Amino acid sequence: MARILIVEDEPDIALGLKADLTNQGYEVETVVDGATAIRRGKGEAWDLILLDIMLPKVDGFDVCRELRQARVKTPIIMLTAKTHEAEKVLGLELGADDYVTKPFSPHELRARIKAALRRSSEDSLGTYCFGECEVDFDRAELRRGGEPVEVTALEFRLLSAFVRRRGKVLTRAQLIDLAWEPGTFVSDRVVDTHILHLRKKIEPAPAEPRYLLGVRGIGYRFDG
Ligand code: CA
Repeated sequence: MARILIVEDEPDIALGLKADLTNQGYEVETVVDGATAIRRGKGEAWDLILLDIMLPKVDGFDVCRELRQARVKTPIIMLTAKTHEAEKVLGLELGADDYVTKPFSPHELRARIKAALRRSSEDSLGTYCFGECEVDFDRAELRRGGEPVEVTALEFRLLSAFVRRRGKVLTRAQLIDLAWEPGTFVSDRVVDTHILHLRKKIEPAPAEPRYLLGVRGIGYRFDG
């Protein structure tokens, strides 16, 4: 049974979440402020943290930053206000795994939680298949329809980053961290160019991508 920590200061939402997730078979605890969230997030073993951004005093961003600085690797899903794309980007860059916008449907939240738990339980992937493609992590190779496809080391690192975080939006800054050499200056345009190259190698119709999707104002998401 997965243990989930809910950090939410609005009693109605916290209560509703707790009831729904308990009903889904999770073990759930709620805390109402950021300081307690940091203490319990660091001090106990959780499988997932559901973190509201708008908290009094110590907000969700501070909690996320503190936990990641303390090397806490628990998946974090942030609860953000609708329309605030800057919030989503900041949350992801501080190390959150995903976000759900308020007001959210219980159905969507459950799906996001399942996906985050599944990702964190997969240590090594070996070979990952989607569509006609096979990503071989041991040999650092891409095959399509059984035939090897020539990819650069950078393209392979980008593809790996997407596959390992599939279903999750990655900002361009995160992609740069994950795929480029540390300290390299890379503009957003350069990231976009490499994504276009990668699409030509994995997409059945690169102009209408099915797997490597752009997320407006934020970055990209791999749905494979
Ligand atoms: Ca709140």
